[in-house]
Amino acid sequence: MTLYRPSLARIFMAIKEHVDLKPYTYFKIGGEARFLSEVKNIEELKEAVHFAKEHNLPFVVLGAASNILIADSGYRGVVIRVLLRGIQRDGTRLVVEAGVPDAVAVRRSLDEKLSGFEWAIGIPGTIGGSVRGNAGCFGGEMKDVVERIRFFDARSGVVEEKDNAFCRFAYRESVFKHSTHLIILSVTLSLHERDPDTSQKLVRKYSSLRSDAQDIGSSSAGCVFKNVPWPDDEKKRARLLWLVPDLAEFSKFPTIPIGFLVDHLGLKGRKIGNISISKKHGNYLINNGGATAEEVIMMIGMIKEYIHRKFDLYPEEEIQYIGFD
Ligand SMILES: Cc1cc2nc3c(=O)[nH]c(=O)nc-3n(C[C@H](O)[C@H](O)[C@H](O)COP(=O)(O)OP(=O)(O)OC[C@H]3O[C@@H](n4cnc5c(N)ncnc54)[C@H](O)[C@@H]3O)c2cc1C
Repeated sequence: MTLYRPSLARIFMAIKEHVDLKPYTYFKIGGEARFLSEVKNIEELKEAVHFAKEHNLPFVVLGAASNILIADSGYRGVVIRVLLRGIQRDGTRLVVEAGVPDAVAVRRSLDEKLSGFEWAIGIPGTIGGSVRGNAGCFGGEMKDVVERIRFFDARSGVVEEKDNAFCRFAYRESVFKHSTHLIILSVTLSLHERDPDTSQKLVRKYSSLRSDAQDIGSSSAGCVFKNVPWPDDEKKRARLLWLVPDLAEFSKFPTIPIGFLVDHLGLKGRKIGNISISKKHGNYLINNGGATAEEVIMMIGMIKEYIHRKFDLYPEEEIQYIGFD
């Protein structure tokens, strides 16, 4: 790894060159970044983007890297790790910078006797990554707590502030997923006052539910697929319920959990090389040590194929691919 200084004028921003990205990711998979920049404030972020433009390179932003798959060949441009970590209280709101881990924001809300974000305690991502994918669990979603958002538009070079409607949140979707030039800087979370004991109980409940159902501490990227929407076509829907009567328990929800389908197909525990489908949660792939992105891609292809053949459904990835173009 070498240190690259773009120019004397920008001497304070050191950019590392040829950095192995595996250790930065929850999956522990992926090759090298041509350049890596870790930014702690907006000026450093602007510098990193400027550096990429100046060298005619693409850039990609990373939060906690808990929902991504990096190619074995790595990323040929500039990887920008967002380490903006400030939190401020404003009435019953928290203004949280993009690089703050969700769990840290939850803890701070409890310290401030504010409630409404407890559900996010076990999500290992950052606020920026969570807004981008409208992360959610236990009935909560980012869309329910985000009031305002500040972002840097890397095309125009302007910092803007917008409201919740601008984000166009939907299930694991937001405007930021389709506009990679918009880099989230901070988010205003709208919360309410509540006694901290009640919040503390909620946090304990969510944490224990999570450790019962998921592989905590394993190398994974969380859910690989989004849950799949029920077909609009009544005949297809009826066929699914005929094939798997137990699916009726999900019929009041808009989507069918992929983990349930994988379990029904008997795929839990299936291995390709060093990657396996979790025995606890059918939508988690576990890196058993030394797994490659290629093995993950093969496993994703196999699961899609099984689900399509058996159920005529087309699962879509929730994880984001980096370096595959
Ligand atoms: C064990 C485990 C459990 C999980 N449980 C859940 C769960 O319950 N619910 C859930 O929804 N998810 C869950 N996840 C997935 C993941 O933690 C979330 O999607 C999280 O919100 C991703 O945030 P991140 O900071 O890790 O984003 P990253 O993985 O770093 O990035 C994800 C995407 O967001 C982009 N991005 C990151 N930061 C910014 C920014 N500041 N501005 C613009 N774009 C940005 C990246 O470019 C990338 O495309 C889980 C993952 C693991 C490993």
